[in-house]
Amino acid sequence: MLRFKRLASHYNQARLLRKYPVGGTFHGYEVQRVLPVPEMKFIAVDLKHLQTGSQHLHIDRDDRNNVFSIAFKTNPPDATGVPHILEHTTLCGSHKYPVRDPFFKMLNRSLANFMNAMTGHDYTFYPFATANKADFSNLRDVYLDATFRPLLNHQDFLQEGWRLEQSNLEDPKSEIIFKGVVYNEMKGQVSSSNYQFWTKFQERIYPSLNNSGGDPQKITDLQYSDLVDFHSKNYHPSNAKTFTYGNFPLEDTLNRLNEEFKLHGKRKTSAGVRKPLDFDSDVRIVEKGQIDTMLPMDKQLKTSMTWLCGDPSDVYNTFVLRILGNLLMDGHSSPFYQQLIETGIGYEFSVNSGVDSTTAANFLSVGVQGCGDVKRFEQTVRSIFKDVLEKPFESDKVEAIIQQLELSKKNQRADFGLQLLYSLVPGWTNKTDPFDTLVFDDILSQFRYDWAEKGNELFRELIRQYVLDKPCFHFSMEADQDFSQAAELEEAERLRAKLSQLDDTDKKTILNRGLQLQEKQNEIEDVSCLPSLKIDDIPRAGEMYDVISKAHVSHRLTDTNGITYLRGKRSLNNAIPKHLYPYLSLFADCLTSLGTTDETYSQIEDTMKLHTGGISTNVSVHTNPANAEPELQFSFEGFALNQKTEYVLDIWRKVLVETDITKNSEKLKVLIRSLASSNTATVAESGHSFARNYAGSHLTTARAINETLGGVEQLQLITRLASILDDPVLFQSEVVDKLNELKTHVISKEGMAFFITCDTDKQVSRVESQIHQFVQSLPEKIAANSFAARDYDLIPQNGKYKLIEFPFQVHYAAQSSLGASYSHPDGASLQVLANMLTFKHLHREVREKGGAYGGGAVYSALEGLMSFYSYRDPHPINSIEIFANSGEYVLEKADWGAADLDQAKLTIFQQVDAPISPSSEGTVHFTYGITNALRQKRREQLLDVTLSDVRDVAERYLVGKNSVSAVVGPRITEMSNEQWEIKQLQ
Ligand SMILES: [Zn+2]
Repeated sequence: MLRFKRLASHYNQARLLRKYPVGGTFHGYEVQRVLPVPEMKFIAVDLKHLQTGSQHLHIDRDDRNNVFSIAFKTNPPDATGVPHILEHTTLCGSHKYPVRDPFFKMLNRSLANFMNAMTGHDYTFYPFATANKADFSNLRDVYLDATFRPLLNHQDFLQEGWRLEQSNLEDPKSEIIFKGVVYNEMKGQVSSSNYQFWTKFQERIYPSLNNSGGDPQKITDLQYSDLVDFHSKNYHPSNAKTFTYGNFPLEDTLNRLNEEFKLHGKRKTSAGVRKPLDFDSDVRIVEKGQIDTMLPMDKQLKTSMTWLCGDPSDVYNTFVLRILGNLLMDGHSSPFYQQLIETGIGYEFSVNSGVDSTTAANFLSVGVQGCGDVKRFEQTVRSIFKDVLEKPFESDKVEAIIQQLELSKKNQRADFGLQLLYSLVPGWTNKTDPFDTLVFDDILSQFRYDWAEKGNELFRELIRQYVLDKPCFHFSMEADQDFSQAAELEEAERLRAKLSQLDDTDKKTILNRGLQLQEKQNEIEDVSCLPSLKIDDIPRAGEMYDVISKAHVSHRLTDTNGITYLRGKRSLNNAIPKHLYPYLSLFADCLTSLGTTDETYSQIEDTMKLHTGGISTNVSVHTNPANAEPELQFSFEGFALNQKTEYVLDIWRKVLVETDITKNSEKLKVLIRSLASSNTATVAESGHSFARNYAGSHLTTARAINETLGGVEQLQLITRLASILDDPVLFQSEVVDKLNELKTHVISKEGMAFFITCDTDKQVSRVESQIHQFVQSLPEKIAANSFAARDYDLIPQNGKYKLIEFPFQVHYAAQSSLGASYSHPDGASLQVLANMLTFKHLHREVREKGGAYGGGAVYSALEGLMSFYSYRDPHPINSIEIFANSGEYVLEKADWGAADLDQAKLTIFQQVDAPISPSSEGTVHFTYGITNALRQKRREQLLDVTLSDVRDVAERYLVGKNSVSAVVGPRITEMSNEQWEIKQLQ
């Protein structure tokens, strides 16, 4: 490709360049190349560790949110999930830090705003982000020791991977079952038909990469020795790529890395680049999957077509391919959306749709879920590609994509470093040169040049080269009524086969091993070897984000890089008749989907993409910190370059005032079908939130309204509406009329408030007058209503546990009880209590012993609601029991000291003090009414919480107090009708 010469654009970059002389050596590293990227205000430095060949990439940028990461190329040898189980077990203790789960324990000894470990298709990486220098060095140390010198004890393998164990350790006669954190995590994943579609697709098109997460049916084949081998083969400096980002000095990191790496020799890395399936004619694969009980039986099919499109290491080609993918299927005016989704061939695009370049091959895929006719789908796809060869894309559409890219460079994000890392790691661990990816302006300039020269021929070339008359990979998944049952039978059979090989001594070993593991899990460990920040590292005064309030338009001045962010809201507390509450979320979605009397939504969206960074509308509910009453709010936002704000306001006017529901009722049907098609997948991914919200809606009005807006009740409504779309009379009365009626209640001049974030006073005045004009366009009159949000009914309690029945293979449990109001000191103590319970009690009981993937307690400060939850839980009833006894645990058993308290506060302040983007500054004031003074007061209350406060609130708010429990998942035999209320979704 054509390379534009890159020059250091100003003094600062020239100075930075001198800091990293090419050929210079630092702590065993040699500077290989340096790349100034002035458009993103950073310099990239590529270094090589001379002894091991390990590569380090440093991004020097004036940003305090520093990032560190170490990544290994880890080709999965089979589907046992060994890379994933290794990712978990490296974090179970290392030589220097020989404590269980040091990584998890560091969570409350640090101010990091991000700490994680992730397994990709063929790589594993361990990133963290923090703005604190001492913390950065502490965590870097723990990460390096964990990855290079993990203990990898047999017990860790059993706990995190899989094991056979008595279902009840107290009862040696209880049945032996499979347990293990990753085992249950992956069983939970399979419950989501979207996830299953995605992994099966990936396994079939890229068989050489297996399934890095682990197929539950294969995980139980993994042996401990395989895990140890896999570590020694792959976790070596020569197979590692390290990354730093931010304003901390690079030399410290190089010095520390060298200390570690110099103990190793150079190794020829065993992990080569693997290739996808090689096919020279069409391939057809059909898999069986989970049924979606919220969709009709003839709309269960998911189907897709995929073409191989070259190699991601050709960065420019991949970029053009992405633009093509964007033109074809992004947004309402794209041909695939119009001809596949709007025509009803599918309810929604399948999850693999788009351009994927996260492996060593590019895939261009298009697919749909909720499909009734595969043939029609395939014919339509092929004819769209042929059309593209004849009918050019409008140049405005291409320009809009370029504008979005330009704007995203200016739009500052608090997690810029992490996002950059995510975009680099997959290619970098294969053969892509990260420098090729970092030259944003070069790629864009090249593209502008080629687009001007060749126009649409640029895309036609790609279609001819890769798609038309080229072999296609067809992948479909059919729903199988017996899928869950078949999975259970398979597990039972697999278990039976394992058990049949055991004699009495083996069984005794299993029992003893289980007891030993339990004993170890119960041990109180000495964790003093772990580095920790001190409570004094948290400043008593928080960051202040001043907001200037003038009548109904507030603003904040900050460095926004030439962008203006606009927010509007209107309180709906006294505006909405009760019977229309269930329709509020759908109404908000209509505004950004349907179109007006004169314009289609595609036309509006095209203008939006060309001139703004996007517009959104929402209806939400929270609790007012001043009077503890529910605050039902209609809100809308958007952003644009300073000189283009009039577009944001013009689009607001169109979507709020001119949206024509009656005229666009066909689009409305498309929207409802698309919402219905992802209902079940949403619950599978975040069942704990649904369970928690459902429990809470028996206790607070805000939660009860939220249940209607976005909980299980909302899913039921959407499913019901999707079933009446073909009945014109019902559709008119139950959907169109309701939404039209709602419009007269929601959209009004009355009570509108606005918030502007930009960089100059002059811009504020400009936008203020634009807002003034916008308000004039809103209707004056509001429809009569006598119902107030504060009178919204709670779900009645009847003393029973609630089960929301879903055909998953795991459960999500929750329990909620009332706490104190936002400004009450007890609120702060309860928040600390929730944190201590999570880290000092529930993690051990629910995850380590109970085998759930996650579990803990959260305190919602605004609402004053204490909630417990478990995630992908094999034993929900046991977890509910543990939740219910948490108060007693604190009073009778917990041996918590000052260090534990400090750790809880550190964890809380990781989030309180996490760097935020300029566009978010001051928004909690505008949206929730939390002023600087209230935030500061809350901050001091949190810092001042004592151990006796924590015990005190445990006694007063938890022990013997009313609570509501809810579980999402399948019904199990222990759930009797006397104790359980079963809520079925159909
Ligand atoms: Zn995992």
